[in-house]
Amino acid sequence: MHARTTALFFVFTFGAFGANVTLAQNGKSGYAIVIGTDASPSERHAAEELQNFFEQISGARLPVSTHAGPRMVLVGDSAPLRALKLDISFRDLGPEGFVLKTAGPHLVIAGGRLRGSMYGVYTFLEKLGCRWFAPGVSRIPRMGTVAVPPIDETQKPAFEYREPFFSEAANRDWAARNKINGVLMKLDAATGGKIQYYPFVHSFNTLVPPDRYFREHPEYFSLIDGKRRAERSQLCLTNPDVLRVGVESVERWIGEHPDATIFSVSQNDWMGWCECDNCRRVEQEEGGTHSGPLLRYVNALAAEIEKKHPGKLIDTLAYQYTEDPPAKVRPRANVRIRLCPIGVCEAHPYGQCPYSAYFMKNLNAWSKITGKLYIWHYNTNFAHYLLPFPDFDELAADIPMYKDHGVVGLFLEGSVTAGGGAENAELRSYIMAKLLWDPRTDVKAAIDEFHQAFYGQAAPPMLQYFEWMHRQVRRPPAGLGHHIWIYDSPGAPYLNADFIDKAAELLRQAESLAENDAVRARVRKARLGIDYVRLTRAKRFQIDGQSYRPDDLNGLKDRWSAFVARLGGFGITNLSESSRLTRDEGDFDEFVRPYAAVTLENEHLRVHLVPELAGRVVQILNKRSGKELLYQPDPSAKQYPNLGGLTVSPYSDYVTRAPWPARWTLAAGGTATEATLEGSCENGLRMRRRLWLEGPTLRTQTVLENLSAEPVEALLQSRWEVDPGPLDAASLSYRTQAGAWMETPFIQPGRQPSGSESYAGADQPDGEWMIATRAGGRATVNRFSKDQVARCTMNWTAKGENRVGLTIASKRRTLKRNETLALDADYGVR
Ligand SMILES: [Zn+2]
Ligand SMILES: [Zn+2]
Repeated sequence: MHARTTALFFVFTFGAFGANVTLAQNGKSGYAIVIGTDASPSERHAAEELQNFFEQISGARLPVSTHAGPRMVLVGDSAPLRALKLDISFRDLGPEGFVLKTAGPHLVIAGGRLRGSMYGVYTFLEKLGCRWFAPGVSRIPRMGTVAVPPIDETQKPAFEYREPFFSEAANRDWAARNKINGVLMKLDAATGGKIQYYPFVHSFNTLVPPDRYFREHPEYFSLIDGKRRAERSQLCLTNPDVLRVGVESVERWIGEHPDATIFSVSQNDWMGWCECDNCRRVEQEEGGTHSGPLLRYVNALAAEIEKKHPGKLIDTLAYQYTEDPPAKVRPRANVRIRLCPIGVCEAHPYGQCPYSAYFMKNLNAWSKITGKLYIWHYNTNFAHYLLPFPDFDELAADIPMYKDHGVVGLFLEGSVTAGGGAENAELRSYIMAKLLWDPRTDVKAAIDEFHQAFYGQAAPPMLQYFEWMHRQVRRPPAGLGHHIWIYDSPGAPYLNADFIDKAAELLRQAESLAENDAVRARVRKARLGIDYVRLTRAKRFQIDGQSYRPDDLNGLKDRWSAFVARLGGFGITNLSESSRLTRDEGDFDEFVRPYAAVTLENEHLRVHLVPELAGRVVQILNKRSGKELLYQPDPSAKQYPNLGGLTVSPYSDYVTRAPWPARWTLAAGGTATEATLEGSCENGLRMRRRLWLEGPTLRTQTVLENLSAEPVEALLQSRWEVDPGPLDAASLSYRTQAGAWMETPFIQPGRQPSGSESYAGADQPDGEWMIATRAGGRATVNRFSKDQVARCTMNWTAKGENRVGLTIASKRRTLKRNETLALDADYGVR
């Protein structure tokens, strides 16, 4: 890594004819680094960096001066530079561009005062062979003689905003040396500062706080299902007072955050758009898009802000329900749209994967209506930060693709937590930085160089591991062609047993080759993801007589404790975006234990209930086919095993996501084919649920009763999660109440392989709906009383698993004391 050479170092890729500029010979130099008397802080810092690294490279320490001399390395604009009359157009270079240029005996590295000259210095050092792979892992070549061939080169960044969002990328010096400028980076005045947002994202509740306004002005907030709401709501964007309050908030933010240049006016991180007549009318005018009312609002706000603050930018999102672009309204010049491809497959270049076609359509449309598009790109598994995430082919193709679509800013979201440690976080950050500066970067060469430096003697098996990981997803014949998603579970198909075994073997080889403790620790850290997959697989619950539990509970507990201790050794604080490791530990202690199970069985079905798990049916085995009907949740899921299966719960309305929690127990008097459960909620609601087998059907009757003195508005929802096998061969079939026969395939061209649909009134299934395999194979059927049911909701996903959830919801009623509400439903096979 630190080979000493005295040969002429000739790494420049191109240059004009002429004599070399020999900056050092045999460790000696007559050159001085020359800066202007009014050099910017980053130019002064760059001169020191050049002085230090050049000394490490050559042994010669160049003085830093403001005076002209016979041999100069000129950093930034200065009187001695101007005296050379090179006619450098600093205006064209902008704040971050630079020129590298030989001029007679001199070398010129000059660019924008903000960061340009500094970036020029780092680029020059890279041309000499320097690399800053990760904080603490660099490659600085050694050579007594440094000869620079003639050069005249101008560089500007491909993107104005460049952010690899990983804890590992925040380090000040690493970030400056790799030319990134995002909000996370600890860049100070000496390193040229950075792009500053305020707030960063999802700002509606800060813009118009419900705590402050909802009580007196519920009309500021979304009308959802007939009611203005403060919880999980957005804003009523067509209300003029919401514009006035929004402008006041942004003006206050500008006053309080003078360094920020871009202010986010963006939806909260959930659905809940406004369904009022005005908002709907605007949506219709804008081609039926939710982005229509949003962008009209943001434009109006940005127009007001521009009057007093012409230099400030307003940011908003094209995300989830606003991802489709509007038909008419166009972003103003001081508005930045951040388009978020959250639903795409991350294995394949977006233009080449059918599941990402929907996004390419949106990207094309947005890029036609704004020349200042930003992208929020996803770069890790947010549910399991440690999992192998083979998206480097995608990344290497899509950053240039964004450039071709005129994108000017990229936020590359990874994992930012106290302890960092997401899979390949250092490599990712490094490759991202290179691509963000220059999308034509040779990614394969950069990955190789990184591995050589980061893993030393262990690099060959680590590179093989990296390659194998990507073979799992590359299109045949190069690989197995699996797709990957940002919430994949350790049970996802691309993490099949063959791959995990092969990966474990390569990582074992790498560990044995590691030449020192630092490298060994890096290999062991990389191995955490593979061990995590194996650990979660050992956590799967199964029925063992009258108990529902993992196979080897004590062994599992020991493995989990040992694993948590290893994570602690690396300082890792989070395994996922949604919770800290300490909470995962708490969940493990709370949920991973034996539960009493009840079995119902006839000649067709074997059904297991676990009353303590929210009265859940956890398995329904079709004895004829040997197939399990219910989707079996991945053991890595939060609060596993208390999820999935078949459940019934009481809710206050159709919008609120969480039911009233109920405690369930088994009532006395069951038989081999029948059981009754009793559930009670703290608000005085009681449920009695009878389940029994009749032929190939599990029948259920649930009665909700209000035992409290107060009237309660309530409804019952029954949800079952089915495993239909591969979803591309399955469809949902039913007759509507209006009499139409519907047969809808789950996977449709040009769409994501997941989604959700709700049916009410005439569109609702007429008392029966089923999931059928199209080849005429088995069907799973849910029958219900159409007089009791007011809504049916179906959601499905083929992202890393095959799962369909069918939910029926009863009518909503106000129950006075001792009044009841019933929901009957049958579940079975055909
Ligand atoms: Zn509205
Ligand atoms: Zn794909």
